[in-house]
Amino acid sequence: MIPGCVFCRIVKGESPAEIEYEDEEVLAFKDLYPKAPIHLLIIPKRHIESIASLESEDEAVVGHCVRVARLLAERLDYGERGYRVSCNTGPEGGQVVYHLHLHFTAGRRG
Ligand code: 5GP
Ligand code: ZN
Repeated sequence: MIPGCVFCRIVKGESPAEIEYEDEEVLAFKDLYPKAPIHLLIIPKRHIESIASLESEDEAVVGHCVRVARLLAERLDYGERGYRVSCNTGPEGGQVVYHLHLHFTAGRRG
């Protein structure tokens, strides 16, 4: 856990969030400023900064995050309709929060 990291604070329960999914390794919660009718963030509980700082031991948890995206899609009935999973990386990639997260968006065309 990194002091001052907003997503680590959510993991620890120190900041509120609308949790949609949780297991030992992964947490998913609603984005505070949704940009689509459904906008969730899926994060590894363990602090990883970004794709740019991934180590080989992080592969399993990142794969797990992708599987959680699929599970949430099916649970929310978007499995067939489709959805977007994206990961902003670095300053020119639009990353603002440096705790790796997948954006899961659905319900909007384009
Ligand atoms: P980034 O630009 O780093 O890929 O995305 C960060 C996302 O986190 C943004 O979509 C923003 O709305 C969301 N966000 C920032 N702070 C908070 C927070 O405290 N709680 C929640 N639920 N979402 C947050
Ligand atoms: Zn963190």
